[in-house]
Amino acid sequence: MNYMNKSGIYIHIPFCRRKCSYCDFYLVTNLSVIGKFTSNLRNEIALSSRFYQDVEFDSVFFGGGTPSLLSVDDLAAILKTIKDEYRISDSAEISIESNPEDFTEDNSKLPALRDIGFNRISLGVQSLIDDELKFLTREHDSDMAVRVTQRALKYFENLSADVIYSLPEQKLQSSGRTVDKLIELGVPHISAYTLIFESNTVLNKLRRKNITLPNNESLEAGFYYFITEKLLSAGYNHYEVSNYSLQGFESRHNMKYWDYADYIGFGPSAHSLFRGKRWNNVRNIILYNNLLKENRLTYENITMLTAAEKQNEFILCGLRAQGIHLLNFSKLFGKNFSEIFVNQTDRYIRNGFAEYTSGRFRLTEKGYLLADEITLAFLN
Ligand code: SF4
Repeated sequence: MNYMNKSGIYIHIPFCRRKCSYCDFYLVTNLSVIGKFTSNLRNEIALSSRFYQDVEFDSVFFGGGTPSLLSVDDLAAILKTIKDEYRISDSAEISIESNPEDFTEDNSKLPALRDIGFNRISLGVQSLIDDELKFLTREHDSDMAVRVTQRALKYFENLSADVIYSLPEQKLQSSGRTVDKLIELGVPHISAYTLIFESNTVLNKLRRKNITLPNNESLEAGFYYFITEKLLSAGYNHYEVSNYSLQGFESRHNMKYWDYADYIGFGPSAHSLFRGKRWNNVRNIILYNNLLKENRLTYENITMLTAAEKQNEFILCGLRAQGIHLLNFSKLFGKNFSEIFVNQTDRYIRNGFAEYTSGRFRLTEKGYLLADEITLAFLN
């Protein structure tokens, strides 16, 4: 049973000009295969549509990699295939992830993206301090990021900026300067993440050699509180552990992940969750292209979730965001959340980590910081 009627579509565009030192997303830097990939992606989207004829989608999210690396014609062709083959709501949120450097040479690209149907843009700003951008091995500098953000806001009222904080040797004030500037520019949605030293990244190699080390937990927490405080006092709603928005600018697509709604993904490495089944596409563009050339889908790791796994995932997603929706919990699992978890909820409410509010059990600001630890107490 799924309590949400509308689902989301995720499109993984696995290309970047080069790989940033901290990145562990699936991508390739050989841009010469973009043409072949685009036609295989459209084939995948069309081939899969027979499974979803009774489903309405109200969000489409192009992520990556760097979707803005593709030409407007390629992006328009992919969007057309989606709209031709699937039932997309008239008011659907249609987002594209992008990097500032993709808009410096061609002034027509931002309005063109809006004209072909995108109504939300997410910019990989990361920092507005040049030394920090260099450390992160980003291609843009702070001036470019500010200029592109200002221009993008002319065409996209619904704009999000990504920020990374808690860099080694970073000062609190410096992370604050980036956030202050984004607030001043009028950016309505900010996703702010701690720098993670993921395995299989250049950054992690530097850590193993003791060249660059992550901050300790209490320093990370200091950054988190500092940034959160700034955004809350500027009127942003802290609606997920790492996401802040002005009223009405929450990301509908990301809310699907956190509200445990159905979504389907296309492109290499894309994940899907649909009617209790979870799977991913192959994480290899050569294999992906070869399979689709023969009109074969590229699924792997197909798992039918057990009732206990579904409940765990529902709780895990809910506690990171707006909280456990009590009515939806009982509809989905036939149990009363507050009764079965009375010991845990009492303890966390008593210590100021959680509260019952608007039909949900949710973490407070203090609780968000310990979200992973608190979640463990509710898992089977
Ligand atoms: S631009 Fe984004 S997706 Fe591409 S390598 Fe850098 S962090 Fe990864």
